[in-house]
Amino acid sequence: MFFAWIVYTIVLIMRPVLLLRNDMVITRRKFLFLLAASGALVGFRRRGRDVASPAGGGVVRPPAALEESRFVDRCVRCGNCMKVCITNGLQPVLFQSGLAGVWTPQLVPEIGYCEYDCTLCGGTCPTGAIRKLTLDEKRKTRLGLARIDESICKPWAYGTECLVCQEHCPIAQKAIKIEWGQAQHGAVRRPRVDGSLCVGCGICQNKCPVRPGRAIRVYPITSDLT
Ligand code: SF4
Ligand code: SF4
Ligand code: SF4
Repeated sequence: MFFAWIVYTIVLIMRPVLLLRNDMVITRRKFLFLLAASGALVGFRRRGRDVASPAGGGVVRPPAALEESRFVDRCVRCGNCMKVCITNGLQPVLFQSGLAGVWTPQLVPEIGYCEYDCTLCGGTCPTGAIRKLTLDEKRKTRLGLARIDESICKPWAYGTECLVCQEHCPIAQKAIKIEWGQAQHGAVRRPRVDGSLCVGCGICQNKCPVRPGRAIRVYPITSDLT
């Protein structure tokens, strides 16, 4: 409760500033979502699970963002990247990367993924915190790494057909491979992430039909994920 109060106070303080910046309005729905995502990530970190270490920030940064500590130093919280993001996937960080990271951008794939054909955030960043890349360079730039939770993924957990994530993966060779497995009702095709191809764009997470938590999620790159 105390945590929620702190976050809400900060949003209230910053909201007038953001309102002056065109359409950077935090709706109640978006605020609640960010709060929930923030709490979930903090919870994950406390349990020592997949989310990155505190040093890694625990958030998925925009493509070609500088290394975490340099990124946090260089980013001036102007919000330009979040304003131009065509999927609205770039959203402000609350406390997931510590106080120093408040209001820096993160990719929230549930809201929007990183579009394979877009380089806008790097082009608009005034400080170089997000580097400017050609489209070809950006397509090869890794934001994070997708992981499947086999305990809730439909083919893995229930033996039902679903390869939505694989169908949407924009990588030409597909970073999600299909493998056959034996379920109760017969053979089933199951997805498996190829870590050497995945760039962490998050479209798989965005499109995965499993609720409330998606069965495939993009995590920041950390030593235990590489
Ligand atoms: S490159 Fe990706 S994160 Fe950056 S503005 Fe485009 S869609 Fe958004
Ligand atoms: S879209 Fe989700 S439920 Fe379907 S196969 Fe992929 S991870 Fe599993
Ligand atoms: S994040 Fe998902 S959709 Fe994007 S490259 Fe990796 S596996 Fe493919």
